Amino acid sequence: MDEGDRTLRLDGPGVTLETRRDGLAFLIFDRPQEKVNVLGGPVVAVLEILLDQAARDKDVRAMIVTSAKPGSFIAGADVSEIAALRTIQDAESASRRGQRLFDTMDRLPFPVVAAINGTCLGGGTELALACHFRVAADDARVEIGLPEVSLGIIPGWGGTQRLPRLLGIGPALDLILGARSVNARKALKLGLVDAVAPPETLLEAAERLALAAAAGHRRPRRALSDSPAARYNPVRWMVTAAAGRMARRTLRARVHEAEYPAPYRAIEAVVHGLRYGMEAGLRREAHLLGQLAASRTCKSLVSLFFLRQEARRDPGVQDPSVRPRDLRAAAVLGAGVMGGGIAQSLTRAGLPVRLKDIDLAPLARGMRAAWDLNRAELKKKRIDRREFDRRMALLRPTLDPTGFRRADIVIEAVVESLEVKRRVLRDIEEVIGEACIFATNTSSLPIDSIASRARHPENVVGLHFFNPVHKMPLVEVVRGPQTSDQTVATAVALAKRIGKTPVVVGDAPGFLVNRILMAYLGEALLLVEEGARIDDIDRTMLAFGMPMGPCALLDQIGLDVALHVAGVLTEAFRDRAPRSGLLASMKEKGWLGRKSGRGFYVYAGPPGDGGGDDDGGRRPGAPREANTGVYGLLASAARQPIDPAAAENRLVFPMINEAARCLESGIVRAPGQVDLAMVFGTGFPAFRGGLLRHADSLGTATIVQGLEAMAGRYGPRFLAARYLLELARDGRGFYERG
Ligand code: NAD
Repeated sequence: MDEGDRTLRLDGPGVTLETRRDGLAFLIFDRPQEKVNVLGGPVVAVLEILLDQAARDKDVRAMIVTSAKPGSFIAGADVSEIAALRTIQDAESASRRGQRLFDTMDRLPFPVVAAINGTCLGGGTELALACHFRVAADDARVEIGLPEVSLGIIPGWGGTQRLPRLLGIGPALDLILGARSVNARKALKLGLVDAVAPPETLLEAAERLALAAAAGHRRPRRALSDSPAARYNPVRWMVTAAAGRMARRTLRARVHEAEYPAPYRAIEAVVHGLRYGMEAGLRREAHLLGQLAASRTCKSLVSLFFLRQEARRDPGVQDPSVRPRDLRAAAVLGAGVMGGGIAQSLTRAGLPVRLKDIDLAPLARGMRAAWDLNRAELKKKRIDRREFDRRMALLRPTLDPTGFRRADIVIEAVVESLEVKRRVLRDIEEVIGEACIFATNTSSLPIDSIASRARHPENVVGLHFFNPVHKMPLVEVVRGPQTSDQTVATAVALAKRIGKTPVVVGDAPGFLVNRILMAYLGEALLLVEEGARIDDIDRTMLAFGMPMGPCALLDQIGLDVALHVAGVLTEAFRDRAPRSGLLASMKEKGWLGRKSGRGFYVYAGPPGDGGGDDDGGRRPGAPREANTGVYGLLASAARQPIDPAAAENRLVFPMINEAARCLESGIVRAPGQVDLAMVFGTGFPAFRGGLLRHADSLGTATIVQGLEAMAGRYGPRFLAARYLLELARDGRGFYERG
């Protein structure tokens, strides 16, 4: 706006109101010194004043709401303020205050147009919904949505009321319950925005729309009216009830209400508002938000949100002068289960990749796996044909190390054998450049032993992906004793670049996640040996909140793979490792888990990533029928019922104990990293906030007592770690360590 046009300018921290001589007002969000705008308390307070001012200004004909941040409209409410809400009343009144503010916006006596230039989430979307019209830039950075349920709350500034009125109940529930965001084009299709414009002319398009509306040529669109006649129309009443019921049913197959209440409360708020009107709906929304914000689930999910943010910012090394190397080309060795997925995730991030195997058949399978993953994204319209072609063109299969000289990083995913891995490293060092990083995806072998004969051990690092690579968000970056800071920083930066959450861990057998899992899976095997039923054990851990029980998880991993990893870890940890002969006997029978159609369960369908998804009420991944033949392999086939509480402690406490040992020996730096790794690497229930948050909620003294009792009964492997004993003695939790 040029200086002569300006009649009035009101500045607040993070938001400014400018009114032009022609009566067009601009509300511009621009939080000083930050990359994104968020709606925190101070901005809300200023907005209250500015909107009041604008409402009373007779010269204003229309208003445009926009942001001065490139690629970011409003990223949402300030999550730290949500975390700080202590009581139900605090949360409810914070919601009421936001609702009043957006109500003022909605009631402004002139048309208001949101010009959405980038990320528009949560409170940002609720603000845009309170505007009368919305225009979005045709820019890849634009994403619009209400992800609140992923933080354990519901949209609390009118989102559960305005979205269904704008789109209809079905699409609104779909967006809110899925915590999904959509791009500009999808938003236009849904009716979430009124127009899409090129980023350069976004403001002009918004201006045109605002002036047309001011002249009475455009009226706000709405799918559902709020008049009593419309609300009490029997057809609408029935449609609303049916949509709510259907949403609840779909939800029940996905998450339990007791663990994740937020999406269930969102349905309640939406349905209530559509029946009893906007004002009643807003009151219900605030009331439900109040309860949810004070809940344990919300606190847990918010704490995981912060841990993840921290991990994204963490360069992975202490020395701030260390810069990651620039990676322009990569190579992947081994095109098996892991290699194909890793190669695809690298090309997704735009890196050219050479994928090498020793045989044509696995190479073709690896290429096919990458093709299938890209194809799935194409079918879901997440990418277009051009992007599909670009990714496939970046991936080049090979049987010899052609093109490896150009690689800045080689990721090895060949078979889990120290000999093979050492040989592969030695051979490849002949071909690659001096500075090329060698990352190994080993799941159990120490990095130091793989690097021991390397010419450049400082360039060797662990990059431990989880299976399936495209779904699992965690990557453990394993620092060997000789790994350089720059190599670690580069591996961390690469993990972030491909959209993963990295956790840097020390070099010990099993690193962090597999080591903790060993304690858990090993106890499950012993429970079966002692006479527990497979499905009783799994049911106990499903009830705890795990995505699948330990026996089903062993089937998923593959019993041969599990046996191999257990062997490496048992050798390393000796007396501390639970010892069971069951896996070996099952392997002998050819029962390898899902991939062979039989393991602890019998599988009907082809191996996929979870059976029994549709058996209402049970969690995805719960297979149908236990393989009772397993009992015949044991000393006694007789089965007894288990005490679920005792079984849960027996399975969970050893994980906590093992995590304490990892902290004690510096394998991992902080309890938050354990929690992040367990939630994103194993599906440990997020509503519990992670393994060590769960431990803190029980109390370290209770855990020590439980371990002592089990040590007396089952043996010294249950003896509490020194670190844990110290915490219990001082009456502290993992997160309260001084
Ligand atoms: P896989 O058997 O499916 O694939 C290994 C591939 O490596 C095979 O295609 C084989 O032909 C190829 N290969 C063998 N020697 C080679 C060489 N010298 N050069 C190039 N290719 C060679 O195994 P996977 O399950 O993908 O596991 C690979 C690695 O990843 C292992 O170290 C494993 O421990 C680790 N890992 C596996 C999982 C999992 O769940 N499968 C998870 C995390 C890590």
